[in-house]
Amino acid sequence: MTTRYIWTPPAVQSLPIRGTSDRLPINRIFCVGRNYHAHAIEMGKPVDKSIERPFYFNKSPQTLVQSGATVAYPPETTNYHYEMELVLVVGEPGFRVKAEDAHTIIYGYACGLDMTRRDLQLIARDKGRPWDLGKDFEQSAVVGEVVPMPGVVIENAALELTVNGQPRQKSDLNKLIWNIREQIADLSLFYHLEPGDLIFTGTPEGVGPVVAGDHIEGSVEGVGTISLTISAAE
Ligand code: MN
Repeated sequence: MTTRYIWTPPAVQSLPIRGTSDRLPINRIFCVGRNYHAHAIEMGKPVDKSIERPFYFNKSPQTLVQSGATVAYPPETTNYHYEMELVLVVGEPGFRVKAEDAHTIIYGYACGLDMTRRDLQLIARDKGRPWDLGKDFEQSAVVGEVVPMPGVVIENAALELTVNGQPRQKSDLNKLIWNIREQIADLSLFYHLEPGDLIFTGTPEGVGPVVAGDHIEGSVEGVGTISLTISAAE
């Protein structure tokens, strides 16, 4: 018997895949916090890997926006920030995955922008409240074309971001505090990872504000590019 819903269910969120017209359906969006030392320090929260574990926050799949979009400056913020990141796409189920096996659940990669209402995030952080208002808001997860690279672990790759052509972020994936294998191993202790799960792997230093009219471009060497334009607030 066909289920009849009282209104149209939310659409499945999806991304384009390089080399095919098929789309990649999204399950969850996980984000790693403070995963480059220089960024952790610029946020005033240095990381000591010998005594700390990675931590995570989530964005709803409905926050997904495709690269190339124009988004309105979001509400209830005066400090809207970019964070350029490598996004990992999970392609196989994985629970308690050992680091040495982590490559077996990798489908591919994309470029991502973890757009952030920094003022709201920091208020929440400093008051011990959830980060959702700062991180999990409409159109905050910008992702580019997915590049199938099954079984490939990216260990070195330049990552860059410009605003209106001016360099703002420049780093390398080899500076991750918890690398790709370690992220998969740790996150899969807490969750049964599923195909279509995205992991935003963290941002390097140089995060900063954008305003209406700004144009962001970013890249990860060997993966691709991403862009976003900011328009006036609603
Ligand atoms: Mn981030």
